[in-house]
Amino acid sequence: MQEAKNLKQYRKDCQQSLDNDFLRSALDKFAVAYRESRANAFSEYDVRQIVEEIAEIKDGTSANLTLLYEQFKAAAEANGVKVHYAVDADEANKIIADIAHKTESKSVVKSKSMTAEETLLNHVLEAEGIEVTETDLGEYIIQLRHEGPSHMVLPAIHLSRTQVKDLFSDVTGRQLDDNIAELVKVARKELRQKFIDADMGVTGANFAIAESGTIGLVTNEGNARLVTTLPRVHVALMGLDKLIPSVDDAQKIVSVLTKNATGQAITSYVTWVTGANENKLAGGKAREVHFVILDNGRKEMAEDPLFSQVFRCVRCGACANVCPVYRMVGGHKMGHIYIGAIGLILTYFFHGTDKAKNLVQNCINCEACKDICAGDIDLPRLIKTVHTRILDEGGHPLPFTLLSKLLKNRKLFHSLLRSAKWAQKPMQNSDGYVRHLPMIFFKEHDFKALPTVAEKPFRDIFPEINQSVENPKVKVGLFSGCVQDFVYPEQMVAAVELFAKHDVAMSFPETQSCCGLPVQMMGEMKAARDVALQNILAFEKEDVDYIITLCASCASHLKHNYPHLLKDDVNFADKVEAFGKKVIDLSSFVHDVLKLGESDFDGDGKKTTFHSPCHLCRGLGVKSSAQNLIKTAGMEYVKAQEEESCCGFGGTYSAKFPELSEQILKMKLDDIENTGAEQLLTDCPGCIMQLRGGLKKRGSDVVVQHTVEALATRSKKKD
Ligand code: SF4
Ligand code: SF4
Repeated sequence: MQEAKNLKQYRKDCQQSLDNDFLRSALDKFAVAYRESRANAFSEYDVRQIVEEIAEIKDGTSANLTLLYEQFKAAAEANGVKVHYAVDADEANKIIADIAHKTESKSVVKSKSMTAEETLLNHVLEAEGIEVTETDLGEYIIQLRHEGPSHMVLPAIHLSRTQVKDLFSDVTGRQLDDNIAELVKVARKELRQKFIDADMGVTGANFAIAESGTIGLVTNEGNARLVTTLPRVHVALMGLDKLIPSVDDAQKIVSVLTKNATGQAITSYVTWVTGANENKLAGGKAREVHFVILDNGRKEMAEDPLFSQVFRCVRCGACANVCPVYRMVGGHKMGHIYIGAIGLILTYFFHGTDKAKNLVQNCINCEACKDICAGDIDLPRLIKTVHTRILDEGGHPLPFTLLSKLLKNRKLFHSLLRSAKWAQKPMQNSDGYVRHLPMIFFKEHDFKALPTVAEKPFRDIFPEINQSVENPKVKVGLFSGCVQDFVYPEQMVAAVELFAKHDVAMSFPETQSCCGLPVQMMGEMKAARDVALQNILAFEKEDVDYIITLCASCASHLKHNYPHLLKDDVNFADKVEAFGKKVIDLSSFVHDVLKLGESDFDGDGKKTTFHSPCHLCRGLGVKSSAQNLIKTAGMEYVKAQEEESCCGFGGTYSAKFPELSEQILKMKLDDIENTGAEQLLTDCPGCIMQLRGGLKKRGSDVVVQHTVEALATRSKKKD
């Protein structure tokens, strides 16, 4: 749970997880195994189509919430179930405690329910003198440890078998060994009597089916069947978001749930509860069944044009499985009660600003969660929007405001970058790196070597380059972004040389500025909008077929984020659309537009691996262009196991969370070195800064270049 008062404290809390070797290795193994199992589980399915169907079903839920609720309530009550509506967590807990008192229930068995975790139901029932026993094995373990779940589907993933052995030894008073099968038997024996003795069973629900008043439960252990059948009272607590029209819709969700959650082809049990049936333990009378439907901020979410998509969440937990931050720190630090990407958003709506304010900043914007989401939720955008809302509520920090003002003033921003080359002189090494970190940086930032600002920015070099393209076959505008303009102009120069050989006419509009992604990452949306406008206007008068950027993050931001940022400016819509259509990344342009072939290069067989930047492979969906070009240009391509994993840069993220950035980078560099490649190519200057700086710091011989530099070097001379 999030108790940190400020970001500094939160970073310290994260450090505890980074220092937990077992946690790190468990999450690491799971991340690698999950990737493979999921791919196998979906190998014969059109995942895109299934995800779109789920999104459509659940969009229907948020749009027709009242209608579905009324239909569900009427059908369930006709089946003999009592349906309750709870506005918030306190009311839900009170309703359930009252049911327990009225039915003289002294002991409760529970199956896994994230909604009950959300309301902290156990605490309330226990405070009323009612014994509550969790019966899902993972939940049982964490209940004994007085902890919350660290994953929505695998609540005890953070614990080792030795820890469980010690725990169960304490509970049973016997010294056990750490054989997993034996430990499971211990839990089964302890729980069996609890099921028999329980007065009341509490479950959640994966679905609330409006047409029949049925609830559906998806489980692996079968405990939910005992919870719903043995006790004489059954209470199911579920959020409004669980409402769906029909059982056919539920089947579609079931077909994706476990595959996306853990890579299992199917789940062990799907349990349907329709009405109050006979109960032998109640002397053959009908069981008393109550459904408690919880709002707790969901209605507000459903009515929000942007956040209503959260209703598409089927709680598969996959957004945590692929998140590089979760992989480092686990759910207790990357979440409050709900964890992972969706947890960052739900915490704000269900538990308030105070619990969400630090947490929501711990997103590197890698888009892995969006890519894997079973409901096609644009999680990174929602996380950034939550951050902006929190800043708008509580005030923007002064450094954010100053940087926003600076970025909006292009001339001042560029003057400062130019003057940096003089300011850095005392700290500059001859190898292009900063010698001593300035005092504003601290030790924790010292995990990578930092490059110096270039002697001359690309914007000053470009007019001096003689581009003799007489009969251009294509005209392009170059968008450099700040890093390539002021730190790595040689990458832009390589592009100009390569393009000139292939009859590409180029222009470089001088009024272009930073793409604005750094300020968007900081939650400064107003500044991000202003900078977007500046850049669109800078290219407006250029007669070009394409706008090329060598930075995948810039390309993805220009293409996909600008329309969102400027959506309220209706007079500008056509310009934004026209601009976005022209934007293309370097590798796609060379591969798909120029279509360069082997005869265009002199290859040297250099063993080369590739880092696929998050905003290239996921942001732009470009998965193979650069890799194909490596082979076309005559290099030997070796695929890294973690080719598409984030490098830990994330712009301002690496400055804000250096400890996490360092560990994500370490994993990446280990993977790169494991390939045995002499050379690493990538398509993003930010990634180059991170990877090159990290490799330099560890004394590696692997050379890091932009793909365009490797292509330009091997490109044959023009005839
Ligand atoms: S964008 Fe990346 S870092 Fe952020 S929550 Fe999603 S997976 Fe995690
Ligand atoms: S947000 Fe998407 S990936 Fe995450 S739990 Fe929900 S459905 Fe699964």
